[in-house]
Amino acid sequence: MEPLDRSTIWPYDERGDPREFHYHRFGNPTVAAAEAALGELDGGTALLFPSGAGATTALVLSLLEPGDTIALAGGGYYGTGVTFAVLAPWGLRVVEFDQTGAPPEGVQLVWLEAPSNPFLTMPNLEAAAVHPAPVVVDATVATPVHLRPLEHGADFVLHSATKYLAGHDDVMLGALVCRDASAAEKLRTFRGRTGVVAAPDPAWLLLRSLKTLHARVRRQSETAAYLAERLRAHPAVEIVRYPGLGGLLSFDVADAETARKVETSTRVIVNATSLGGVTSLIESRSRWEEDRVPAGLLRLSAGLEDPEALWSDLEQAIAG
Ligand code: PLP
Repeated sequence: MEPLDRSTIWPYDERGDPREFHYHRFGNPTVAAAEAALGELDGGTALLFPSGAGATTALVLSLLEPGDTIALAGGGYYGTGVTFAVLAPWGLRVVEFDQTGAPPEGVQLVWLEAPSNPFLTMPNLEAAAVHPAPVVVDATVATPVHLRPLEHGADFVLHSATKYLAGHDDVMLGALVCRDASAAEKLRTFRGRTGVVAAPDPAWLLLRSLKTLHARVRRQSETAAYLAERLRAHPAVEIVRYPGLGGLLSFDVADAETARKVETSTRVIVNATSLGGVTSLIESRSRWEEDRVPAGLLRLSAGLEDPEALWSDLEQAIAG
């Protein structure tokens, strides 16, 4: 394993000049090692941030100007729209669009999600690639195991590394992977000057977790596909969303009351928010997103437990 270096300072060289690492805000070897590993997985230059939301904020503040508009995938992660709303007083504008089609004209940034959380739609990457504005793909759910957006014309990949990349519900980190080295340099400068830097301990845990990423995500995807198939055959389940790219799915039961009963009746699957960890999680999304989602929508993140045990658990919870 790579060493964990918690220093915030490193001595200048014998001539008194700064070495590659001299002050943590501008770079730390453990953070840099995790960035190199992730950059390789996604085929670009990776930069870590303290959270996915922190990466989102850094990207739009460094890339855009007051008055600029983001075309944001509708039905994507609710919190991304909330982050943008917080930045509205600084002149950031947002238009939502259906990411399965072409992004609208006259915007300065296109924001896609692959697949979207919790509606699980896939973006039209070909249509976005010919749009004149830079394209960001939040690939938190797909992970580089299923999708490398830079190979499909995206300019930036965003990850909530808190989810699958770190994968054990014990790390909060975000990442941006840039196609263009000069865009990465601009972001690095922005990050150092504004101080939205990742700490070495979570970066080290991320490095450890990336070693098992493929094994975890492959297994979580197989389990999600299995659960989606069983749920589709269940008479009390109205709709199942699972595009087959990762371990996340969502399904609808009759109403909010039924959804609440299901999520509080599971014994193996934990009733908690978040996704991508080794423990399966379920939650009704209307508690956060209100009428933006169907009242009976349940989001399920498949972990590494025995798929049969997970299905039995869901079945008894749905039966009430
Ligand atoms: N993007 C997606 C798709 C997410 O699901 C989340 C968090 O749930 C984020 C971004 C934000 O990441 P974080 O919670 O690490 O700030």
